[in-house]
Amino acid sequence: MTRFDTSLVWFRRDLRCFDHAALHHALVQSRRVYCTFIFDTDILDALPRADRRVEFIRDSLAELDAQLRKHGGAMIVRHARAETEIPRLAQELGAEAVFTNHDYEPAAIARDAAVERALESAERKFFGFKDQVIFEKKEVLSQAGKPFSVFTPYKNAWLRQLALAPDCIDALPTEPYFNRLARRGEETVPTLAQLGFEKTNLSELNIAGGMQGAAGLLEDFALRVADYADTRDYPAIKGPSYLSLHLRFGTVSIRALLRLAQGALRAGTAGRGAEVWRSELIWRDFYAMILFHHPHVVKSSFKPIYDNILWERGREADAMFAAWCEGRTGYPLVDAAMLQLNRTGYMHNRLRMVTASFLSKDLGIDWRRGEAYFAEKLNDFDLASNNGGWQWASSSGCDAQPWFRIFNPVTQSEKFDPEGKFIKRYLPQLARLDARAIHAPWRAKPLELQAAGIELGRDYPMPVVDHDTARKKTLARYEPVRSPRDDVPAGE
Ligand code: FAD
Repeated sequence: MTRFDTSLVWFRRDLRCFDHAALHHALVQSRRVYCTFIFDTDILDALPRADRRVEFIRDSLAELDAQLRKHGGAMIVRHARAETEIPRLAQELGAEAVFTNHDYEPAAIARDAAVERALESAERKFFGFKDQVIFEKKEVLSQAGKPFSVFTPYKNAWLRQLALAPDCIDALPTEPYFNRLARRGEETVPTLAQLGFEKTNLSELNIAGGMQGAAGLLEDFALRVADYADTRDYPAIKGPSYLSLHLRFGTVSIRALLRLAQGALRAGTAGRGAEVWRSELIWRDFYAMILFHHPHVVKSSFKPIYDNILWERGREADAMFAAWCEGRTGYPLVDAAMLQLNRTGYMHNRLRMVTASFLSKDLGIDWRRGEAYFAEKLNDFDLASNNGGWQWASSSGCDAQPWFRIFNPVTQSEKFDPEGKFIKRYLPQLARLDARAIHAPWRAKPLELQAAGIELGRDYPMPVVDHDTARKKTLARYEPVRSPRDDVPAGE
């Protein structure tokens, strides 16, 4: 016996039809299930006209629609304000209930509350499910019943929770109920042009959207997970999974990733690799939990005292910020990273830390400006993780890098791109510098530069700041947050 005659599943950042909480529950509880995705004008209108994420979503929706059609369903895709369109569509379809997956961003929570109110006033139900994370909201709390703000005890409690309920990562089946999928008319997924967007370089980058794209990456990573701990910090090496974009838009289930990690750990085939990777997945849950409990982080520092820091402003700061954005700081690793971001929409995790530290601690620019730039450019942009990452690097966040730890961009380069392979990929003009000189070209001898065909200031910029001077300025800038217990090192 089903509970509802007709239901509607509202897809958002969960563009798949397998192992999907809202779809699973709607199918189990309803005789007939429609599926929809709204290209929300509240979000789309603020984006540049060429945006890889919009193209990725559109391609993924086309795949999802094709999958659903094989079983009698289809995606109803609209370009409208979701807040008003969902109640309207529910009425049009005669849906008694709308099923969706939880979103933890403050704006999405407010939108969902408005949708719920509108549906309720028309006597329709609205159900939300956990799908995006393994543990949400108050599922992992300290012994005092409070949300954690430090990662390690959170992770330990998270692991205990998983041990208590290992089936929470099982797939939520949808296929057995696919005969309940419904469609009406011959609606199609709009083209990019119909949405008012242009094609990007997504296909040149070989970024395959949809469930198939995600499955390909997951399969490939399963063969490499054992090496993850040793390779993940080196941007020139294929170490990480590259699944963040798929996790962001839900073309793969987070539970499937955990099943891979747990399976490898159980089999003892990928020891530390799988363990370290699982930790990264836990960081993702951690930041979603932080955003949910502390929505003020969207605009302010997690630790309020950090809002007393005086950041550089004015014309010179703007010029520095532009140099950072465009990869013209004169620090090759920073510049190559920013070029990777600008050209591909991806940036390696180590480089996200290095560039974020460089902006806030070498250039003295408010981390929120960098956060906003990443938000515009990252294919995998996720408010919780991006905000968490920026607050970590600028030290303003929960469990962040201590304020007096300042990455040295040259040392980081020597350590994590020792031969300059990654740098050369994005800065081919430096290709003839040897492994010693490439990390700091301004330190190379004139003859060395000449032999490599480089004139500094013409082929590649001089550094926009001197790191040692910047470091001293930063230590002074962060003075308002100093506590008597801080053990500030003399130099790094
Ligand atoms: P893998 O190394 O394969 O990791 C697997 C997954 O774990 C990732 O896909 C991601 O979902 C999660 N993960 C890994 N590291 C972290 C982390 N530090 N915090 C939270 N989750 C993590 N990640 C985003 O998904 N979106 C962002 O907008 C984002 N912005 C960031 C900004 C800064 C300044 C920093 C320092 C980190 C940011 N991260 C962000 C985290 C991390 O850099 C990316 O998740 C990772 O580089 C994605 O590549 P991958 O999928 O190959 O990762």
